[in-house]
Amino acid sequence: MKKLHLVSLGCPKNLVDSEVMLARLEQDGYGVVADPAEADLLLVNTCGFIGPAVQEAIDEILRLAEYKRADPAKLLVVTGCLVQRYGADLQKELPEVDLFTGTDGFQEIDALIRRAGHDPEALLDLRPAKFLMDSSSARRLSTPFFRSYLKITEGCDNRCSYCMIPSIRGKLRSRAIADLTTEADRLAAMGVRELTLIAQDLTAYGNERQDSADLVRLLKALLAGTDIPWIRLLYLYPTGITDELLTLMAAEPRLLPYLDIPFQHVADRVLRRMNRRYGRHDLDTLVARVRRFLPAAALRTTLLVGFPGESEAEVEEMIDCLRRWRLDNVGVFRYADEDGCPAYRLADKVSEETKERRHDRVMKAQAEISTEKQQHYVGMDLPVLIEGISRESDLLLEGRTMFQAPEIDGCVYITAGTANPGDIVQVRITGAHTYDLVGEIMEPGEN
Ligand code: SF4
Repeated sequence: MKKLHLVSLGCPKNLVDSEVMLARLEQDGYGVVADPAEADLLLVNTCGFIGPAVQEAIDEILRLAEYKRADPAKLLVVTGCLVQRYGADLQKELPEVDLFTGTDGFQEIDALIRRAGHDPEALLDLRPAKFLMDSSSARRLSTPFFRSYLKITEGCDNRCSYCMIPSIRGKLRSRAIADLTTEADRLAAMGVRELTLIAQDLTAYGNERQDSADLVRLLKALLAGTDIPWIRLLYLYPTGITDELLTLMAAEPRLLPYLDIPFQHVADRVLRRMNRRYGRHDLDTLVARVRRFLPAAALRTTLLVGFPGESEAEVEEMIDCLRRWRLDNVGVFRYADEDGCPAYRLADKVSEETKERRHDRVMKAQAEISTEKQQHYVGMDLPVLIEGISRESDLLLEGRTMFQAPEIDGCVYITAGTANPGDIVQVRITGAHTYDLVGEIMEPGEN
């Protein structure tokens, strides 16, 4: 059996591409190994939309290149966003790599690797990002069997001034509702109990299609066409959240009361320079609307500090808004100056030191809010999806409530009771920390 070692970097959308590659390479006779020294094929699926991700990808390629240096018979393959962005330059800089393929090559990775094996020259397979996977693309899940991502679109038609993704991943392409329902149903048959819908902008789903596909119709089809108990939505663009969507979420308990809505900033002047299609007042109205339709819902957002021209007063405004909106989870990122983005040409750059200070101030303010908000779960009985033995201690089980997304939010540490990974059990919450909860599994029928 040929042996494969795969490293998947970046976002869940990239992880789905890695899962398609895993399935194709398994069909081609590869088995997956954890130790790169054992592998015949070393594959890095890269991220490349901001500087730190580019550096991480380069470091990972160079780390694996050491194994190829020790055993030149190994194949070293690099795929994904970094290649889509820097393809030809990478080929010059990294001669030890046998094959470079961009964001569209994953669907025929097996054929590309067979070709690379015979060609002494590093193969560079670079093409405009046009491909859109469908349910005929088998996936080898890399997540635990009971949860999976469903990538509903590719690319993005928004033009946020700080973002490289449209130039890397191309224009918006939305999969057909029937095709997505087929894949979701297959995932359900594989044991998936939590399906997380992902895209660059989930609310843009279907915008470019000629049929009447949109997010609400897709959700209704997934609810009717599968028995998956937990369906979660990530990456909702603020202006795309309709009353129709909120009404459906309020009526359907399988659509989790959880909304991840990247605001990126709150100050009107900064949002305009980011080319985001809303202002502070729209965000005020949105938070109130969501709370009216879904009072118990958890709200997560993403904020960017250090955008060119950002003032101390605008960071203060951000903190004030967080104190008023009392969101459940907030990811705060530092603006990265990316050559190729319109924002790159803006004046009044903010120093790295100032970005750091602003990042810490906003995170500190949010940590106080999250700590207070978590307290209201204490004493509640909540359904919890069991992940398994805790990473913290073998004496604890770990799980997540509906209000905690995988890989990005906190978890529930379970101090009493037993259950298996993938079980959804009632847990009485006995304690709360800034982001994590503590609880005990309730016996069936226990009040
Ligand atoms: S919505 Fe904006 S930030 Fe998100 S991928 Fe599209 S252009 Fe980038």
